[in-house]
Amino acid sequence: MNGLMMQRALLVSSLLVHAERHHGGQQVVSRRVEGDVHRYSFREMAARSRRVANVMDALGIGPEARVGTLAWNGYRHLELYYGVSGAGRVLHTLNPRLHPDQMAWIADHAEDEALFFDLSFLPQVEAIAARVKTIRHFVALCDRGHMPAASAIPGLLCYEDLLAAASDAYAWPEFDEHRASSLCYTSGTTGNPKGVLYSHRSTLLHCYAAALPDSLNCSARDTILPVVPMFHVNAWGLPYAACMVGARLVLPGPGLDGRSLYELFESEGVTVSAGVPTVWQGLLAHVETHGLRFSTMRRTIIGGSACPPAMMRAFQERHAVDVLHAWGMTEISPLGTACALKRHQLELPAAERYRVQAKQGRAVFGVDIKIVDDAGRELPWDGQTSGELLVRGPWIVSGYLNGEGGSPLVDGWFPTGDVCTIDADGFMLITDRAKDVIKSGGEWIGSIELENIAMSHPAVAMAACIAARHPKWDERPLLVVVRRPGVELAKQDLLNFYTGRIARWWTPDDVVFVDSIPLGATGKMLKNRLREQHGEHLMTTAVPA
Ligand code: ADP
Repeated sequence: MNGLMMQRALLVSSLLVHAERHHGGQQVVSRRVEGDVHRYSFREMAARSRRVANVMDALGIGPEARVGTLAWNGYRHLELYYGVSGAGRVLHTLNPRLHPDQMAWIADHAEDEALFFDLSFLPQVEAIAARVKTIRHFVALCDRGHMPAASAIPGLLCYEDLLAAASDAYAWPEFDEHRASSLCYTSGTTGNPKGVLYSHRSTLLHCYAAALPDSLNCSARDTILPVVPMFHVNAWGLPYAACMVGARLVLPGPGLDGRSLYELFESEGVTVSAGVPTVWQGLLAHVETHGLRFSTMRRTIIGGSACPPAMMRAFQERHAVDVLHAWGMTEISPLGTACALKRHQLELPAAERYRVQAKQGRAVFGVDIKIVDDAGRELPWDGQTSGELLVRGPWIVSGYLNGEGGSPLVDGWFPTGDVCTIDADGFMLITDRAKDVIKSGGEWIGSIELENIAMSHPAVAMAACIAARHPKWDERPLLVVVRRPGVELAKQDLLNFYTGRIARWWTPDDVVFVDSIPLGATGKMLKNRLREQHGEHLMTTAVPA
């Protein structure tokens, strides 16, 4: 017997309709490429998103066509999120930090028909305009007054002109919720990037789960500032969640340095933020150097790579900002686990509580997790045994765009490539990515813990631990470190710092000091680049025993 409930498709447009009807006066504040701060209401955002939908028709963009964006977090990008997907086209968020060759490759692979871009990215778009195969329309996200005087892009269109010429009347179409809504490519640190194609249904289910109290905890009482870019896994779903719950949204545009972010947090009364650890380093450095305080910020969500406990302590103890450590992947929409403490963990002494908070957390409902050994056998949840993490759920990839690489699934589970333990409370701790693990004399050493220890040293600004080739042990840990400006730190002092904090044989063999650590397009340390640069270091310095 079937239930007798209505069949209403879960569509991205329904989030916007809800936001307009129930939170119409709620604000979206954006720092613009033009330099000023723009503000309007959800009501105006909804009207302009309907204009975007009409622009899709006016430009003759085919049903289900991919529409590219190359844009910061801002209100126009938000209008594209809703207008493009709502009108049944697929929003393809391109990462502007990629090399133009990669960008052109991805746009061709996705067969994008149009590209909407912020003016800051004009040089990148000019570099690819002549060679991309399928893009028919290039649209600059600005008004007529800001259009470039001369451009190498023939027929360059002006976003505000297009919107002004379009009607704000548009009836959002109803269609199968399994249809694609947006597309995001993996970073391609190994091999070519692969397209992950989200559906309307997966996006909405992910949004419900992300908004829950023990997940990202979004509410109509919050002012949310996603530092995580809208070009990186849909800014972890926050642009959707804000409409679902009616939260005020503050979008930082290109201003991602510590000073710009701090000013926006304070001037707009931001309560919640979200981003990768490298961003928070800049913010914390600014706040601490100038002796500043957060007057409204209460929580921040940190994920994308491991959050060093030293950073958590700084936020929580010095600034009364709670840190929620979360884990996810492009293939998981991205949210998989969040480290919201259970009741009994609140009573733990501080040191133990931080040990729990350093974990990536427990699965949100909808995502199931398990760890397996090399033979695929499930491993126990004892907080000790480590294996590869596998996940499954309705917002997890089942295959890549164009069937690239065949089915990634193993018995219906998606192998993440992350090496983890899971404890009896279900809290998962990533010890490494499979490709970063250090294999020393047949034993595994997890690089993340070694980095966390280095990061807790007061003289260290940033630390990466890589597998360096070793004449005797195959591989040994090598630390690559950026010192804090103006601070002295000798190699041996840093190595001594490991004593008593870790098994002796885990201690890194050597330290290389560098001016900066290369970051990838999503703000993560590029360990493969570091391995290319320093992977042979111990072959010359190590004395075989
Ligand atoms: P890429 O890093 O290749 O750009 P994603 O952005 O999808 O791809 O990143 C997913 C990976 O990032 C995960 O598989 C995991 O290795 C890492 N990651 C994400 N969140 C965390 C976290 N909180 N702690 C440690 N690693 C994380």
